[in-house]
Amino acid sequence: MNAISSARIVDLDSEGLVKNHARSTDALHAGRHSEALALSRLSAVLQTSIELSEIISLFFREIQRVVAADGISFEHTPYKFTYQLGTPKGRASHYRIQTDSDYLGDLTLYRKSRDFTPCDLEKLDRMVTSLVFPLRNGLRYHEAVRASLTDGLTGAGNRIGLDSILSREVEQASRYNHPLSVMILDLDFFKNINDSHGHAVGDHVLKTIAGTIQNSSRNADMIFRYGGEEFVILLNKTDVAGAKIGAERIRQIIERTNISLGALKIKVTASIGVASLCHGEDRESLLRRADKALYCAKHSGRNQVTLAEPSLANA
Ligand code: GH3
Ligand code: MG
Ligand code: MG
Repeated sequence: MNAISSARIVDLDSEGLVKNHARSTDALHAGRHSEALALSRLSAVLQTSIELSEIISLFFREIQRVVAADGISFEHTPYKFTYQLGTPKGRASHYRIQTDSDYLGDLTLYRKSRDFTPCDLEKLDRMVTSLVFPLRNGLRYHEAVRASLTDGLTGAGNRIGLDSILSREVEQASRYNHPLSVMILDLDFFKNINDSHGHAVGDHVLKTIAGTIQNSSRNADMIFRYGGEEFVILLNKTDVAGAKIGAERIRQIIERTNISLGALKIKVTASIGVASLCHGEDRESLLRRADKALYCAKHSGRNQVTLAEPSLANA
């Protein structure tokens, strides 16, 4: 357990003025020139990045010039963002960072052995205050990037997200010799749902199924909407046998799911193609093989899982 030696709030008022500004000015007037320099340097350095993790790293590096600290952790739960550096345990000073209109995150600074002194804490208060505007910009940027990689209807990743994450996963799996599998899942006769009940009902089915896939997958699995009613699920560190079991489980759960919308009850099934990365294979070939397997599942009667043929490059 970390001993929290203080729980402090860094808060801006509606005009963007720091509520503890008076203390900061006092400190400068008291002739703390080196700290004043460190503060202005910190403000300048923090403006050099818009990436949240980099903002926190720069902040940690700069505060160590003024106050000894061994670790830092930053968390923004609504955006599911956490980041830690150094040794984030020991004596702790915790800050909730917010403005009148925005919650900006929880930041904790750690020291392994001794408590932060009252003088350290005053310095930290002033330095954390410099984080407010860079952090707010970083959070906005983070959210914009996340939204650009997310499918608006289902909340799954989108095609752009898939391309960049699959490239990274293929590269890592090849480098560390980890298994990597993909499933391509396509809803069966989905057009009939639109034709019978309308597009809005079709959309509701897509959203429900995306949630069902998410709930029946491991936390580590990543889900993307690949096309209209097609999803790709990436399973890292999973070989073909594990992927087959996972795909069969998802298929059965979808088959059993009752989708209701008012009085309407809808059932849907899915066909799934599964492929595991072969030695030397690239992302396009992996997806192509999974897609071929999906095509076989469709042609063998739908509502089933089919494993891909191994890549010829591996033969
Ligand atoms: P199969 O079993 O061969 O996959 O048949 P299917 O009817 O599922 O496949 P098909 O490719 O013929 O039709 C897919 C349908 O998905 C057609 C299209 O209108 C619908 N669709 C694609 N995107 C969306 C969407 O965002 N919302 C809704 N409601 N429907 C969509
Ligand atoms: Mg379909
Ligand atoms: Mg389709």
